[in-house]
Amino acid sequence: MSNRIAIVFIVFLAVGVDLFSQLLPEENVTIRIPVADQQHLRSLTANYYVVNFNNDSADLVISNDQISVLKSRFTGLKLLPAEFLLDDSDMAENLTEAFTFTKYPTYFQYDTMMHQLASDFPDLCKIDTFGYSRQGRLLLALKISDNAAEDEGEPTFLYTATMHGDELIGYILTLRLADFLLRNYGQNSEVTDLLDNVELWINPLSNPDETYYPDNSNSVVASRRPDISSLDLNRNFPDPFAGDENDTTGLQVEIQNMMLFMMKHHFNMSANIHAGAEVVNYPWDHKYSRHPDDDWFIFISREYADVAHDINPNYMNGFTDGITNGWDWYDIYGGRQDYVNFYLGGREVTLELSNTKKLASEMLETYWDYNQWSLINMISQARYGIHGTVISAGSGLPVSAKIMVENYDSDSSIVYSDADEGKFFRYLKEGFYDLVISADGYFNDTVTNVSVIDYQTTTLQIELDSLGTDVFLSPLYSEPVLIYPNPSRSQLHVEVKDPAMSIDEAMILSIDGKIMLVSGAGENASQISMDVAELQSGLYILQLRTNVGIFNKLVVIE
Ligand SMILES: [Zn+2]
Repeated sequence: MSNRIAIVFIVFLAVGVDLFSQLLPEENVTIRIPVADQQHLRSLTANYYVVNFNNDSADLVISNDQISVLKSRFTGLKLLPAEFLLDDSDMAENLTEAFTFTKYPTYFQYDTMMHQLASDFPDLCKIDTFGYSRQGRLLLALKISDNAAEDEGEPTFLYTATMHGDELIGYILTLRLADFLLRNYGQNSEVTDLLDNVELWINPLSNPDETYYPDNSNSVVASRRPDISSLDLNRNFPDPFAGDENDTTGLQVEIQNMMLFMMKHHFNMSANIHAGAEVVNYPWDHKYSRHPDDDWFIFISREYADVAHDINPNYMNGFTDGITNGWDWYDIYGGRQDYVNFYLGGREVTLELSNTKKLASEMLETYWDYNQWSLINMISQARYGIHGTVISAGSGLPVSAKIMVENYDSDSSIVYSDADEGKFFRYLKEGFYDLVISADGYFNDTVTNVSVIDYQTTTLQIELDSLGTDVFLSPLYSEPVLIYPNPSRSQLHVEVKDPAMSIDEAMILSIDGKIMLVSGAGENASQISMDVAELQSGLYILQLRTNVGIFNKLVVIE
């Protein structure tokens, strides 16, 4: 038994004396404070590290030197019992036992397991080191997919766990998930189908220094760092709603590495796993108003909880039957979920998977049973929604474009197609949507009434017309199109001089590509007039569609 256990034990026997004075100086403790109202809670979350909030009380993790200040400020403080501590019997004795996932691995076993999965399944699994922790431990991730060595343009999903090093459940569940998927590819049709269509990334341990504090082989794993309030990794991301820039400067090294890793891979969906509650938490955490995709977030969160309820209806049954909006629960500053959803255009939820942070090893199998298919089904959601490709109509080359859902998106929810392949993934709840696709150097394209059906994929191929590069000049005529008067006030006349050219249609477009006016021409027309009196004065694009190509010219309306 460690000193730590002994000290906490004494604290609970010593009723009536100054309980707090007996803590070790470096000890972090959890205290419960009665909370009067939401405003009171917000002032607490702004100033202290709130780890949980239940109805009328908040749980704060504080360091010893904060106690006297808190005692003078608040009445009704209660020291919470220290969590059950793991001991040698919870730790795997060897690699074989670690691979049963019913014991916790040492750091060295973890490192070996990750590398072994990659070497046992070379076609399906690649290991990536995306940096080091503050104390020099590896930040590891597995890429799992059919043809893992290639980038097949599939939707990407990331599971990451245990950024709070003492919240152990996600660490073991995601490690086991990797093992399960790799062993069942080609055996189980659902698993095979999943890995054929999704590029999955798994980072089981995002804060190894806390999990293996103070040393790698320590059997009593997991403690919050002593200086927790400044080092909590889930309060250290740039907060879009507090005006922080998307910038890694000055952040904890684990966060910097995670941000760069996520920016590099552009994960379409992700989930971040914690413990201390049993609930799926969806955005926002630091903003009252709802995310534009609120319906969809509720849909995938609901599915996660419902599938778990099939195994045990009493698991994950608090809050709104196992799910909650982040803000409705409690406000946090600098959380990862808001960062990913706002700055990276991702779709991330937070999974809180066990009330007990340091779950006894005997319970690991049970919690795997609760969560196994929920975890798998959530990855499957990355396969659905709109999967689009944007290319240039002229060259057929991929275009990096902005895809906005009209009368729906806000800045943070807009997705973009990637420059390499022109691909984009837009997850939406079942319904009909209008998309506006725009890119520098191209005219906007609008696709109306795109149908999205739950658990189905809608495929879209979008061709954008290039701005001004599709001009075909006849060698006989240096200026094949005559536009007058320009600037114009009421009538704009357009004439083609080349007898081989004829006008099909003329359009006036705003500078950002919106169609303002359209005039159709008669057969073999060599001229057309447009009434522009109603247009606001300014700069416009005249687009002339002819039998030999598209001609764009700037016009000024006075
Ligand atoms: Zn946590």
